[in-house]
Amino acid sequence: MVPMVDLKRQFQEIKGEIIHILTEILESSHYVLGPKVSAFEKKVAEFHGLREAIGVASGTDALHLAIDALGIGEGDEVITTPFTFFATAEAILYTGATPVFVDVQPDTLNIDPEQIPAHVTSRTKAILPVHLFGHPCDMNKILRIAKKHRLKVIEDCAQAFGARLNSRTVGSIGDAGCFSFYPSKNLGGYGDGGMITINNPRLSALIRELRNHGARGSYRHKRVGYNSRLDELQAGILLVKFKYIDDYNKQRRRKAHLYNTLLRNTVQCPVEKEGAYHVYHQYTITSRKRDRIRQTLKENGISSVVYYPVPLHLQEAMKFLGYRKGDFPVAEKAAREVLSLPMFPELEESAIEKIAGIIKNIV
Ligand SMILES: *Cc1c(COP(=O)(O)O)cnc(C)c1O
Repeated sequence: MVPMVDLKRQFQEIKGEIIHILTEILESSHYVLGPKVSAFEKKVAEFHGLREAIGVASGTDALHLAIDALGIGEGDEVITTPFTFFATAEAILYTGATPVFVDVQPDTLNIDPEQIPAHVTSRTKAILPVHLFGHPCDMNKILRIAKKHRLKVIEDCAQAFGARLNSRTVGSIGDAGCFSFYPSKNLGGYGDGGMITINNPRLSALIRELRNHGARGSYRHKRVGYNSRLDELQAGILLVKFKYIDDYNKQRRRKAHLYNTLLRNTVQCPVEKEGAYHVYHQYTITSRKRDRIRQTLKENGISSVVYYPVPLHLQEAMKFLGYRKGDFPVAEKAAREVLSLPMFPELEESAIEKIAGIIKNIV
């Protein structure tokens, strides 16, 4: 059986370090917003060359609090992609703002910057690009559009810890970066967790208040906030895994390049645009024979997943936004044809060869 990710195996390799740090935290009896959270925040901020990173309860909360802190809410519009995980648009809706979708590029499946200007209105306050599957968006073009229309840029980096565009890490390019440490992400804890990267001291102080019931100091509440804190156990686990993230990403890239070599001319393989450092949170192919490939892989004990079968504008929960089938043809075609294959740092080369062989046979 080849799984999508093998967290069991990864745990075995770092078990000693994990047990050690968890024991230390459990014995300290400091479980929420303590020294491990501060230490992890500092590491992540340094990694991105930023002053601040703020730990929160999830990637969804990271997006929600960042949008909120930037003063976006009722009556505002936020431009984003319809081809992403549901939480991206959900977080916009939490604040009372409206997601405005723009179709994606056929190769990266990231938001198409060329199509953004046509969707900017007097209500638009921000662009929320998603670095899907670990490939950075075309941030140069996005920043140019944002500057021209005075929009904020909030990066959804949930799938892209360590991805870079011309040596700048994602999460350090826009006004705020939002990360998820859900277990299966390329930097994942053993539960929920998230982080916001930001270079604005006023906003980071505001987010620190928002994540903890709007409190400044003990039991003094400046505003109504949320309960969205990162716990010490997750931060401890993430401190261990953070040491290996560059290596994990390199391993993912190596596996992806092997898939590319074996699958070239068979299916549409993921691209890596000029200046982009893709971290392959997912290795996602595109083929009209997607369903047959998926079925045959399954018969051979190989997992694969369709991320994402329904674009957000066609989700039942988003019906009230008034979109229709045909509004975003590239995203809709992707939903019919994409397939993510097993991808994790420890994936065996022999498994990749087997998977590629099966796919070639079908196509
Ligand atoms: C996982 C994910 C999120 C949400 O993160 P959680 O930690 O699960 O709340 C948001 N956006 C994208 C693109 C994701 O993949």
